[in-house]
Amino acid sequence: MISSIVLSTLGLASLAGAIAPPVRRSPCPNSDHYCCVWYEALDDLQANVFNDGQCIEEAHEALRMTFHDAIGFSPTLGGGGADGSIMAHADVELLDPANGNIDDIVNHLQPLAIKYPVSFGDFIQFAGAVGTSNCVGAPRLEFLAGRSNTSQPAPAGLIPAPFDNVTTILARMADAGFSPEELVALLASHSVAARDAVAHPSQHARPFDTTPDAFDAQFFVETLLVGIALPTGGNVVGESPSPLLGEIRLASDGLLARDPRTSCEWQSFVTDHTAMNAKFKAVMAKLAVVGQDVGSLYDCSEVIPMPKGFVSESAVIPAGKTMADIEGSCAGTPFPKLATLPGPVQPIPTV
Ligand code: CA
Ligand code: CA
Repeated sequence: MISSIVLSTLGLASLAGAIAPPVRRSPCPNSDHYCCVWYEALDDLQANVFNDGQCIEEAHEALRMTFHDAIGFSPTLGGGGADGSIMAHADVELLDPANGNIDDIVNHLQPLAIKYPVSFGDFIQFAGAVGTSNCVGAPRLEFLAGRSNTSQPAPAGLIPAPFDNVTTILARMADAGFSPEELVALLASHSVAARDAVAHPSQHARPFDTTPDAFDAQFFVETLLVGIALPTGGNVVGESPSPLLGEIRLASDGLLARDPRTSCEWQSFVTDHTAMNAKFKAVMAKLAVVGQDVGSLYDCSEVIPMPKGFVSESAVIPAGKTMADIEGSCAGTPFPKLATLPGPVQPIPTV
């Protein structure tokens, strides 16, 4: 069965491509193993897109792209979910304003997705899992392969936007099969994220938390700090005032942190990095197969690198802020007492 699946995936994409052959550093367990192609793709991806396996902007964008491909699914409106449509039909789907600036990572990944005999849908989920593994403290995500390379453009309007209100976002996520708690877990991805706002140079590459290269719980604390008017924040559609110079707060993140439907799950991650990672891993596994026949996929999770290093189980209050700056929003459960980093407020560099 495995071999027939592998054969059916061969030849899905042409072998054309102008990227240099990878230096093979991740030996496949044996040369006819059905995951071997992914070991080759891993070396290529790490060397040529992620700058030798780093948690850089391209890694953040690859993770973002997994969501933007997969959430293009609705039982009533259509869309094939995690089917690679955002890459196959980039000319259509990237016109959706919610897919703003995704073109950058599409352009980086598409040549590799074509170079190897794999589907776009597989490659997008693979790149997201590998990119995540480059960030310290991240979970090792599952990776299933074998998606068809046939897709149709997803209808516009299925991707939640940062200027949407909470009711709209929760309804859209429910339509795609995700609970409010699962949405909060997905947003752990914003711990390694930055604004990709090329139209607003002062906003570009500004992170969502003080530690954009660490998959920690800082995002869940810093979104609850009182937002203040800052020279570089709060002026672009879909943003709200952030607490720290150089940090961006998406309007939707600020609202979800404080909404009674999501605030307690949000707060629960602040001192429980283990639960945050476990729930993120579980919801990413679900996201990666939206619209797919899971029974026809095969498990190549072994190819995803083991993330290096650890982060603290508990987040901290950033330097220059105090517990009094926290807008605790979970009714009935006080915000946990956190350590505060010493010293004055530190400007946050761009990613
Ligand atoms: Ca899709
Ligand atoms: Ca972080």
